[in-house]
Amino acid sequence: MTDAGSSAPDDTTIDDTFEAASTAPEEVREVLDAQREQLSEQLHDLGVEGETGIVDDNFADTAQVSAEQGEAQALAAQLRDQLDDVEHALTRLDEGTYGTCEVCGEPIGDARLEVMPATRFCIEHAG
Ligand SMILES: [Zn+2]
Repeated sequence: MTDAGSSAPDDTTIDDTFEAASTAPEEVREVLDAQREQLSEQLHDLGVEGETGIVDDNFADTAQVSAEQGEAQALAAQLRDQLDDVEHALTRLDEGTYGTCEVCGEPIGDARLEVMPATRFCIEHAG
């Protein structure tokens, strides 16, 4: 009914094991650590970690395997990008530069950081 403004999104694309909470450094670190762990697990589950590719190539029909492998690798590439951002954000947390845009150096809004804790850019320079 009154959805104008929508200041507190509680149903975002972020996995709901993560609390959308404050941007206190310790809490940000926890959130980022949790994301890093989850992304690593997802990558591991895909079985495309490293460049070794699929482990058991006698297991299934080759065409099907390569299709699935292609999908898995596309997904893995996305996950690696996210993981890269998360690790980068953790580094910036250590350096004390977390929460600023890498293009303009301006602070990224708290609301944006809550939704995307690993973002490197302000809303203006995103994408
Ligand atoms: Zn910016």
